[in-house]
Parts: sequence; C-alpha cells; structure tokens
Amino acid sequence: MIQDLELHLGQDFKNRQWAEGNIMSKPILVVGGGPSGLAAAQALLAVGQKVILVEKENQLGGAPILSGYAKLVPTGEWAKDAIGGMVSRVEASENVEIRTGLSVAAFDGQPGHFTAKLSNEDTVEAAAAILCTGFTHFDSVNKPEWGFGTFQDVVTTTQVEQMMSSGQGVRCPSDGRKPRRVAILLCVGSRDRQIGREWCSKICCTVSSNMAMEIREELPDCHVYIYYMDIRTFGLYEDLYYWRSQEEFKVKYIKARIAEVTSDGERLIVKGEDTLVKRPITIPFDLVVHAIGMDPNVENVMIASTFGVQLQKHGHIHCQNTYEGVARTSREGVFVAGAATGPETIDDSIAQAQGAALAALSIVEGLPEAAE
Ligand SMILES: Cc1cc2nc3c(=O)[nH]c(=O)nc-3n(C[C@H](O)[C@H](O)[C@H](O)COP(=O)(O)OP(=O)(O)OC[C@H]3O[C@@H](n4cnc5c(N)ncnc54)[C@H](O)[C@@H]3O)c2cc1C
Ligand code: SF4
Repeated sequence: MIQDLELHLGQDFKNRQWAEGNIMSKPILVVGGGPSGLAAAQALLAVGQKVILVEKENQLGGAPILSGYAKLVPTGEWAKDAIGGMVSRVEASENVEIRTGLSVAAFDGQPGHFTAKLSNEDTVEAAAAILCTGFTHFDSVNKPEWGFGTFQDVVTTTQVEQMMSSGQGVRCPSDGRKPRRVAILLCVGSRDRQIGREWCSKICCTVSSNMAMEIREELPDCHVYIYYMDIRTFGLYEDLYYWRSQEEFKVKYIKARIAEVTSDGERLIVKGEDTLVKRPITIPFDLVVHAIGMDPNVENVMIASTFGVQLQKHGHIHCQNTYEGVARTSREGVFVAGAATGPETIDDSIAQAQGAALAALSIVEGLPEAAE
C-alpha cells in the first residue's frame, strides 16, 4: 500500500517540490512510534516530506513490539518481523528525525507554523502534527472477581503472546507445567458497563480464536474453551478463525455469563451461567486467560491539553465523524490515527495513518506561507 502511494503520488509531489523549491521544507510532527505512527511517517517519507517522529519509550514499534506480541492476525507474520520491518524502513530514511524517550510538553502556533517543545526542552518546528499515541492495555486487576492478581495461573492474552514469542511455549506460571485445560474469557475490560468500558475492542475475538488454535497446535492434548457473550470475528475472519478453530482444531465455545474464577486448591474453577441452556456451569481449568481490551491511552487528558484537541466521551482522541473529516481532530492542522481514536486493528491503524498523512500533506500544500 505504501509502495502504491509512492507510485501514484510520490513523483507528483517530488516534481512539485523540485519545481517550486522546497514547499515541504518544514517537517510534519508524528507523535507515537507504533504501527500507525510508523505508517504515517513512512507515507510522508515516501513522498519526500520531512518527518519528526517523537516516541515516549526508548524503542519504536508500539504495542506489538513493546508488549512482545507473537504471530499477528490476520497475516500470520511474527510481530517482530512485520512491525520490526516497518521500524527499519522508517529508520533507513534520511528525511526522518527520530526522537525516542521523549514526549511533547507544549505545542503552539497555526497550521503551517507550529512549534513543539519536547520534554527535554528542545524546540522543533512543524507544519502539522499527527497524533498516533495509541492505547493502554486494560489492567485485569480492575476485574478482581475473575481471579487475576489472586491466582498465578490466571493470565492475560498479552502474557500468552509473550510466552509464545519468547519460544518458551504456553505454560502455567505457578509451576511451569503444560496446561491440559485452558479457558479463554472474552470481553475482559470491554463491553462492560459496570466498570465503565462500553466499547468492543474489535480484535480480541479474532486474536483469541487464533490463540486457541495455536495452543492446540503446540499442545494437542490440551482442551481449549472460549467463554463468550457474542463472537465478533468480523468480516472474513468468521470463516478463517471462528469456524476453523472449531472444525479443524476442536476448540469449544461456551456462550456464558461468568460469575467468578476461584480455586479448589489444585485447579482454577470458572463458575457462571451457560446462557444458551440457562444453567449454572462450573468447570475446572489449569490456565485461565483474560482476553483484555484496549483502554484509551492513560495519558490522553494530558495529550489533549498539550495539543489543544478534544477527547470523545470515553476518553479517546476525538476524530471528526464525517467522511470528509477523516483523521481530523478538533484543531486545524492536528490529525489523529490508529488506536488513539478508539480500539483499532493494525491494518485499520495503518490505513488511517496513511489517510492522516495525506490529509496533513493537503493542509501543508494549501498554505502558501508553509513554503517560507
Ligand atoms: C493482546 C492484543 C493482541 C493484539 N493482536 C493484534 C493482532 O494480532 N492483529 C491486529 O491487527 N491487532 C492486534 N491488536 C491491536 C493492536 O495492538 C493495535 O491495532 C495497534 O497496536 C495500534 O497501533 P497504534 O500505533 O495506533 O498504537 P500503539 O501500538 O499503542 O502505539 C502507540 C505508540 O505511541 C507511544 N506513545 C503513547 N503516548 C505517547 C506520548 N504522549 N508521546 C509520545 N509517544 C507516545 C506509545 O509508546 C506507542 O509506542 C492486539 C491488541 C491486543 C490488546
Ligand atoms: S472483539 Fe470480541 S472479545 Fe473483544 S470486546 Fe468485542 S466481542 Fe468482546
């Protein structure tokens, strides 16, 4: 997609740059170096636009790299290869200035003429900004009745991703044994009004179905159950993940309301109600996995105040809700993409970031002063 963008637009932009002399001399500021920030930077760099990429952590790559995800859905690529490749392509450009371990402390000015003060007090000029500041993983301690923080063998999907990506394989943290029975609980920290998380996190059904198949592949004797309210393996994922996991990998799905996760001293016990037959169910497991959702970035209030942009009601960065306003925040010249706007998949984050890059370029291009 990036290559297509370069083919269709790159030469045009480059010609204009050469003809008019440096119209894109001021960089565009990209904040956040996850999949969306990397995609925005890459799209801008592909058309000869200078970029300043500010990332608060000391490493680029966002959640898939920083949280050690394993194989991604739907491509099946390892996160370290797919997102690591995006990092390498951005790092290879001469037109990017990468500032890791920093955030933006102040942001003033007008479209075409912004000034950003970084947290180390350096000041940079930018024509526009794209916020790609992503999300925060739901912290399962906020759902204490489901056992996380009480029982060592209640873990999150990120922990299982890390077990897989490190090569150790799926094990019970309490004693390192291979689990014979695994329960994956969906919608932990999503679609839960009682704890103020009303949104669906979009990707966790698909990630969980895929994870269940990977566990069955690694441990063929292990029984894997998925507890769900609804299954949202949206679009083509229904066939690839939901049906395939049942038909080829014998993963069992239980439509249930979970009451609590306890222990009988030897095994974890998941108690709830089977909502199809309307009966209580109590099933023992070795390992219980919380399919955690995507919270708004915990820093969003500060980010919104620094950049002078609005948040939407759940605390995500507000993005204009019209087709024309895609990627635009409430402040002209400041754009947003990816999980900063709400729960997003990687491919949608990348597509949004490319759209935000084009929108930022069109603003820069429309400002005669920006050439000065
Ligand atoms: C368990 C789990 C598994 C998943 N697996 C998949 C999958 O297989 N396939 C898929 O499509 N999606 C998956 N997702 C979703 C995926 O993580 C997101 O789509 C993706 O990370 C969004 O990218 P992003 O760049 O918008 O945000 P992020 O990945 O969150 O990146 C944001 C970046 O911004 C930085 N940042 C934050 N605040 C600031 C600040 N103030 N200043 C500077 N930098 C800042 C962060 O450090 C981070 O590097 C999964 C999600 C979860 C929870
Ligand atoms: S994608 Fe599935 S698990 Fe995730 S919040 Fe939506 S319904 Fe729940």
